[in-house]
Amino acid sequence: VPATGPLVVIDAHGLPYLDTRLPVHRRVRDLLGRMTLAEKIGQMTQAERRALRTPGDIATHHLGSLLSGGGSAPSPNTPRAWARMVDGFQLRTRATRLQIPLLYGVDAVHGHNNVTGTVIMPHNIGLGAARDPRLAERTAAVTATETRATGVPWTFAPCLCVTRDERWGRSYESFGEDPALVTALTSVVRGLQGAPDGRDLDRPDKVLATAKHYVGDGGTAYGSSSTDGYTIDQGVTRVRRAELEAVHLAPYRRAVRRGVGSVMPSYSSVDLLGDRAGPVKMHAHAELISRVLKGRMGFRGFTVSDWQAIDQLPGDYADDVRTSVNAGLDMIMVPNAYRTFQRTLRAEVAAARVSTARIDDAVSRILTQKFRLGLFERPYADTSRLPDVGSAGHRAVAREAAAASQVLLKNAGGLLPLKPTQKVYVAGSNADDLGHQAGGWTISWQGSSGDITRGTTVLDAMRRAAPGAAITYSEDASRPVRGHDVGVVVVGEAPYAEGVGDVGNGHDLALSAADRAAVDRVCAALRCAVLVVSGRPQLIGDRLGAIDALVASWLPGTEGDGVADVLYGRRPFTGRLPVSWPRSAAQLPINVGDRDYDPQFPFGWGLTTPHPAPAGDGAARLRSLAAAAAATERAGQARSARGDRIAGAARAVVQARVGTRLTPAVARPFAEADHLLLTGDLTGAVARLTDAYRAAR
Ligand code: BGC
Repeated sequence: VPATGPLVVIDAHGLPYLDTRLPVHRRVRDLLGRMTLAEKIGQMTQAERRALRTPGDIATHHLGSLLSGGGSAPSPNTPRAWARMVDGFQLRTRATRLQIPLLYGVDAVHGHNNVTGTVIMPHNIGLGAARDPRLAERTAAVTATETRATGVPWTFAPCLCVTRDERWGRSYESFGEDPALVTALTSVVRGLQGAPDGRDLDRPDKVLATAKHYVGDGGTAYGSSSTDGYTIDQGVTRVRRAELEAVHLAPYRRAVRRGVGSVMPSYSSVDLLGDRAGPVKMHAHAELISRVLKGRMGFRGFTVSDWQAIDQLPGDYADDVRTSVNAGLDMIMVPNAYRTFQRTLRAEVAAARVSTARIDDAVSRILTQKFRLGLFERPYADTSRLPDVGSAGHRAVAREAAAASQVLLKNAGGLLPLKPTQKVYVAGSNADDLGHQAGGWTISWQGSSGDITRGTTVLDAMRRAAPGAAITYSEDASRPVRGHDVGVVVVGEAPYAEGVGDVGNGHDLALSAADRAAVDRVCAALRCAVLVVSGRPQLIGDRLGAIDALVASWLPGTEGDGVADVLYGRRPFTGRLPVSWPRSAAQLPINVGDRDYDPQFPFGWGLTTPHPAPAGDGAARLRSLAAAAAATERAGQARSARGDRIAGAARAVVQARVGTRLTPAVARPFAEADHLLLTGDLTGAVARLTDAYRAAR
C-alpha cells in the first residue's frame, strides 16, 4: 500500500460495505453489523494527534478521528508535509480488521489557516460586512480546495454564532449581530460541501463542514463565564425561548437544510428564562441537541463535542461521558485521554446506562459521512492538487473578499479614494503587520505578529497600488509629518482567539496609547484617513471629529491588495456594518432593536465611493425609490440585484443627508431598514430609510 497518493480499495473481500454501487445507508448497515462494541466506541473517539502515545494506537484503539487543534502542525509546516502527516495516520487504519478510514479535522475557519503559504480569507466579521452570500461561498470553496488537497476532509467551520456583545473574544468569528445576516451567509456550507444531499463530498475540492457552536455561543452575558478567568466566552446565554429560536437557532435551520454534515455544541450554557431548569451546559442539553436539532430540524449528520468540553459537565468523568452521549453527542473531541474515555464509555454501555441503540445511532451518523466523503475508496491526499494551495486564483478571491469587506464609515470632503499621485504619510501599528491583519486562528491558535505566512500588508499593497507616489512610513508617526498630501493611519488590535480576547480578560476596545498618539499626530498635521484593522469595533469616541475618513477594515487576511483596491478607487467601497459601532464602552451590548439605540454608526452603515451625488430633492428621490421598491416586490424580485440597487440608492440618499450627525432618531430606523432588507422586505426597508431621512433635519 503506497504511503501517499490516491488509493482505490478494490472490492477485495466482496463485502457489501465496500461496494460503491450500494446506497450509503446499506453500506452503513452492513458495516455496523460487523463491528464490535470496541470498534464502535473507537469511531466515536476523536484524539488530538499530539496526544497519541504512538501512531499504532490508531489501530489498537480503533480511533475514528484525529484533529489538529489550533496551531498543531507538522514540521516543516508546509502543505506537502501536512499531506504526508495525514496520509501517515490514515495508513495506520489499514492495519485494522475493517479498515475504516480516519476522519481528520482541523479549524480551517478562514482558509486552511494552520498551514503556511495558504490563502487567508477575511475573518467572518469581514464577510458579514461584504454581505455577499455568493462571494462568501467562493471563499469557502477556496478553503475547501486547499484543505482537501492536504488530505484533510473536514473543517470545524463555519461558526454560526450571532454576536450580541462584542466584548466577546470570538466576535470576529461571527458574520454579525443580525440572525438574518448570519442565515444568509450559511451559503458557506455550500462552498465547503457542495450540494445539500452530500453528493459532492467525495470531490477532491470539497470538505465536510461543521456548524458551531450550537447554540447561543454569541449570546452569553458579560460576566457570566466561570471558565479560566474568561468574562464572556463559554458563559451563559439567558434568553426566552422565542429569542433563542429567532436569534440563535435560525441560522442552524438554514444550515441543516443546506445539508451541513456535522454540528459542534457550544461550551456555553443556555438558561431559558421562564423555565425552571436554570443554566444547562449545551454539551448536556438533550432537548436542544436530540429533540430540536436531530428531531425537529431533521439534522442527519453527526455531532462532535468541543475540545475537552464534556469535562466541564457536573459530576465525575463517567457522569460527563454518560450525560453527553445520552444528550446526543456522537463523537467526542476527547482530545487527550482517549483510552480513559473509551474505557469509561464501555463501562457505561455494559451497565446499560448508555444504550447500544444510542451507540449504533452515533456510529451510523459518523460512518454515513465517511462513506459520502469517499474515504473508503480514496483515503489519501490527492497530491496532484497541492499546486492549487496558495495559487494566484485563490489569492484573487481573497483579495476580492477583502475589498468587499471594507466599510467606509466617514468620508469628509471625499478624501477617499486616494489619488495615485498624492504624497501619503502612513503610520499605525497595523499598517505593516501581516499577522495582525490575519488575526487569531492563523498559523497558531492565538495568531501572532509579523510575517507569519505569505501575503501582502496594507503598506506593501499601497506601495504597489501607487508605484510612482511618495509613500513615507513611520509606525509611530515620529518622523516629520509635514510635506505630505494626506495621512493614512492603520490602527487596531493585535491577534487573540477565544476567551483570551474577552474584554476584561486583558483586552478592551480602546485604541492603544501608541495608536492614539499616531492618529493625533498625523490628523493634526494632515487630512487623514484612519483604517481600523480589528476583529470588532474599536472605540473612536470624540476623536472622530479630527478624522476625515474612517474605515472599518476588520481582519482582511493575507491579501492587503484588496484594502488598497478600495483605498485607491480601483473598486468602490461597498461594505456595510455587520454589527453596531458603539460610542463608548458603557453602551455595550448594543444591537438593532435596543430601546435606547444610539450607536456612533448603526448596523448597516457604510458609504460608497465615488460618492453618488444625491440628485436634486432627496425626498422626491426617495419617493420614486419607494415606488420602484413596491413594483419590484410585486414582481417577486425583492432579493434581486435590482432590489439591492434600489436599497443602495435609498441608503446613499440618507447617508449623504445625515453625514455623521447620527442621532437615535436617525440611527434606529436606518439600522432597522437594514434588518428588513435582509429578511427580504424591500418596501419596508425603503420606508424605514425614508423615516431616517425625515429625522435627519
Ligand atoms: C474551539 C472550537 C474548535 C476546537 C478545536 C475549541 O477550543 O472552541 O471552535 O473547533 O477548539 O480546535
